[in-house]
Amino acid sequence: MAGMFIDVQVDAAVAKDAAIAKKLVEVCPVNIFAQEKDGALRIVEANLDECTLCDLCIQAAPAGSVRIVKLYE
Ligand code: SF4
Repeated sequence: MAGMFIDVQVDAAVAKDAAIAKKLVEVCPVNIFAQEKDGALRIVEANLDECTLCDLCIQAAPAGSVRIVKLYE
């Protein structure tokens, strides 16, 4: 995957929802999601390149609210 990197985009309303954030933390196999003290979702930038494109996060969140974007250099 040289030259490719991933960005994970989450709608602001979903990112503030502690219940959905908790689910995302649970499903991602490579810990791209974390939670702030107030429960809000935080994207762990350092882990983004570990994304396996498994789509579990997309299935765990309301339709269209989480997007995995493939970027190329
Ligand atoms: S596609 Fe899979 S590995 Fe990538 S962020 Fe979503 S749950 Fe994590």
